[in-house]
Amino acid sequence: MSDIIKLLPDSLANQIAAGEVVQRPASAVKELLENAIDAEATFIKLIVKEAGKTFMQVIDNGKGMSETDARMSLERHATSKISKSEDLFSIRTMGFRGEALASIAAVSQMELKTRQADQELGSVIVIEASEIKKQEPAAAEKGTSITVKNLFYNVPARRNFLKSNGVEMKHIVDEFQRIALAYPEVGFSLHQNDMETYSLPPGKLSQRIVHLFGKNYKEQLVACEEQLEPLSIQGYVGKPEFAKKTRGEQFFFVNNRFIKSNYLNHAVTKAFEGLIGEGSFPFYVLFISIDPKHIDINVHPTKTEIKFDDERTAYAIVRAAVRQSLATHNITPTLDFSADINLTQKIHINRETIQDKNYSQFRNTDTRQQSNKDNWESLFDETPGRADFSGIREEESSEMTLTFGSGMNNDADVEAKPEKGKPIFQLHHRYIITQVKSGMLIVDQQAAHERILFEKYLLYLEHQSGVSQQSLFPQAVSLNPSDFSLVMEMEEEINSLGFIIEPFGKSDILIKGLPADLTSTNEKEVFEGLVDQFKKNVELSLPKKENLARSLAKRTGLKIGSRLNEEEMEVLIDQLFACKNANYAPNGRKTFHILETLTIENYFN
Ligand code: ADP
Ligand code: MG
Repeated sequence: MSDIIKLLPDSLANQIAAGEVVQRPASAVKELLENAIDAEATFIKLIVKEAGKTFMQVIDNGKGMSETDARMSLERHATSKISKSEDLFSIRTMGFRGEALASIAAVSQMELKTRQADQELGSVIVIEASEIKKQEPAAAEKGTSITVKNLFYNVPARRNFLKSNGVEMKHIVDEFQRIALAYPEVGFSLHQNDMETYSLPPGKLSQRIVHLFGKNYKEQLVACEEQLEPLSIQGYVGKPEFAKKTRGEQFFFVNNRFIKSNYLNHAVTKAFEGLIGEGSFPFYVLFISIDPKHIDINVHPTKTEIKFDDERTAYAIVRAAVRQSLATHNITPTLDFSADINLTQKIHINRETIQDKNYSQFRNTDTRQQSNKDNWESLFDETPGRADFSGIREEESSEMTLTFGSGMNNDADVEAKPEKGKPIFQLHHRYIITQVKSGMLIVDQQAAHERILFEKYLLYLEHQSGVSQQSLFPQAVSLNPSDFSLVMEMEEEINSLGFIIEPFGKSDILIKGLPADLTSTNEKEVFEGLVDQFKKNVELSLPKKENLARSLAKRTGLKIGSRLNEEEMEVLIDQLFACKNANYAPNGRKTFHILETLTIENYFN
């Protein structure tokens, strides 16, 4: 037999490696922006079209590359940033693997134009699927411009897996925001389909936050700073009263690299304990500096996870620092934007405060405003598809069980008819309990209501039948560019739920009406809640309509703790069993359980 093992050609090896480095347009954007940062650019311009699927360009005014380096930069494992294995333990640059440009070039049509400051002429290289098409001297601005066209044009499988432009754009904006936050001293701009959506002048972190997330962040920032060995922290946390109902802007950076860490997030959450309600998420942008020898950034190819050699200390310091800055905020005025973080509000924690677990100023400051708005009235709406259950109840009240009507397609696996006239009551404002033939029916009010609303909204979406209640005073909501494009993509669907929304300017949405059956009349709150929840669900990769229906159901449904009277309880149960799938909430949680009389009997035997 002849030998069969061959070395892969470079182009194929690069394409395989690209699978790890470049998963979607946003990963290419991230690599290009990081390269510009590493090249010490002071201004970086990002241009994307069609969420980067057909076009992205990063232009920087950094140090540029020589002709030879420009060619070398496209080779795999070619880097100017490390040269020996010890360097791995003292990384201060964003890149170091030397595989990004080679990977992107393997799966796109790329043009690289670059010039060093001391050179008259620069060079241009065109490369497609790892194949050099052109390389020549060219007039160029100082710095580097890399254009990536038709990403994944030669990898259809990858291309087909890309999500909608709205979703892909959100990932790009996420990467853009992370890098822009980490380098406030660098100017950035983002152009989206020929429209400038962000223009970020160089400045201080606080200004960068406001430019990125909006003016209302001005009042909510509390500085947080702590210098300790071997780890120091600086940044901002949001005041407790600004906490959001969904995980919004929460950023950790370690040595200026954005990281995800559930562990450190927990430390912040702990610090907010007692100040915000459960299920609320505080804003934070925190920078941890640590000698690189104490961390390993190499654990994950896309590098958003890192390992600390002493995680517990990191946790303790983060928690104490945030706690301390919150303690101070009650007595310190709103941040003075004309001064630098280093000069005002410098909050010092000494070792004692870290050990002092008794932050008495936090007692009785529970600002929880769980707006358990009694949404129960919407229970009484005519739920589409709802069978006339009360009639069935009357007629069959003498029967032992109820089988659900044909054509209702009800797969509730119960013989669960609440018996007429039997006691019904609420347990801990959370469960509804009543008697059924086989024993005791326990309904989880939150899960049940979510199911009811979900099916109703889904129907609205399918038949564009949501009824609107016009607002007297239309409200404008400012969205960040990614949310704005997400909402615009779904404008029709959102309106068929009963909202009346319209784009208003570059990134505002005008809310002119709400679904008529909502009890809340706070347009802004309902709408923002819907968008937040929708984004949170994006990870579940649900179809758009299902996600919308789920999000609105979740947002407007009854909550644990809502008080119900008997009639409300009965209606809730009726509507639940009129659902197509009464057994489970949209997120899979069970809506009810029957405790059999037999089981109860056994308790006593
Ligand atoms: P890495 O960033 O890990 O070194 P890359 O493939 O991203 O690997 O880049 C390869 C090399 O190309 C870099 O080490 C750097 O020397 C050079 N390079 C890439 N982008 C730029 C840029 N925008 N300006 C100057 N040099 C760059
Ligand atoms: Mg790089």
